[in-house]
Amino acid sequence: MIAPNLDTAIARLGQMIHDARDIVPFTGAGISTECGIPDFRSPGGLWTKNRPIPFDEFLASQEARNESWRRRFAMSDQFGDAQPGRGHRALASLYRAGKVPAVVTQNIDNLHQASGIAPEHVVELHGNTTYAVCLDCAGRYELAWVRARMEAGNGCAPDCPSCGGFIKTATVSFGQAMPDEAMRHAEQLALTCDLFLAIGSSLVVWPAAGFPLMAKRNGARLVIINREPTEFDEVADLVVHQDIGTVLEPFIVH
Ligand code: NAD
Ligand code: ZN
Repeated sequence: MIAPNLDTAIARLGQMIHDARDIVPFTGAGISTECGIPDFRSPGGLWTKNRPIPFDEFLASQEARNESWRRRFAMSDQFGDAQPGRGHRALASLYRAGKVPAVVTQNIDNLHQASGIAPEHVVELHGNTTYAVCLDCAGRYELAWVRARMEAGNGCAPDCPSCGGFIKTATVSFGQAMPDEAMRHAEQLALTCDLFLAIGSSLVVWPAAGFPLMAKRNGARLVIINREPTEFDEVADLVVHQDIGTVLEPFIVH
């Protein structure tokens, strides 16, 4: 059911959180918009500005790799200093209280870790953009190193010094395989929780969008908090079409 107003939404959500034993939050770009990081699909979102570079293009062309890194550093300049918002802090409070074993996220911004959730309890379905990896040997590289090499090399994205492989942010691009371990962990969480909170996701990017449905079919209660309607609103136990930070702020424990 759709919550008729903010107070009712917060009261119902509070009761459901209170009743739950095991809560799994599943977050999308909407939880980070108040931190200054635009989402993909809202008007003016990243999607409308830049066509994403698919994985096969990244592999096929030096120019695509250069362009992908140019965009990444333009992002750093715009929102590299983003800090966790009210939504992140509320989820970190529930985590500290022992109600949330782990957070499943489509986000790549590292803000759940920054809010105090241990890295092993942040299940990243689409990876992490705050560091880079070699696609062949999986060696880790820091962004500052890539940037310095690009600047020294006339804008040419560097290859891995140890094996010659391509170096890419540790994210999952369109056309790139989903990370097995994260998918397994998310599935296990979806199947064992009794409350699943889908927060700030348009729920259109598959297979990630399958988890709310999986949890619901397995008997968990499903809450969707998103400004815009989603395809799964009609199966959810509670739907909140309000600002995420405003809805979750009362659940922050300092
Ligand atoms: P999306 O952009 O498709 O959807 C975000 C949803 O959040 C929208 O439906 C929007 O209405 C809602 N929203 C935005 N701000 C809100 C607010 N303050 N309160 C309530 N609702 C709000 O995002 P998605 O479903 O996560 O999928 C996009 C993909 O893009 C993700 O898989 C992710 O990998 C990537 N992405 C990540 C980031 C990030 O890490 N912060 C940012 C942009 C895109
Ligand atoms: Zn390598």
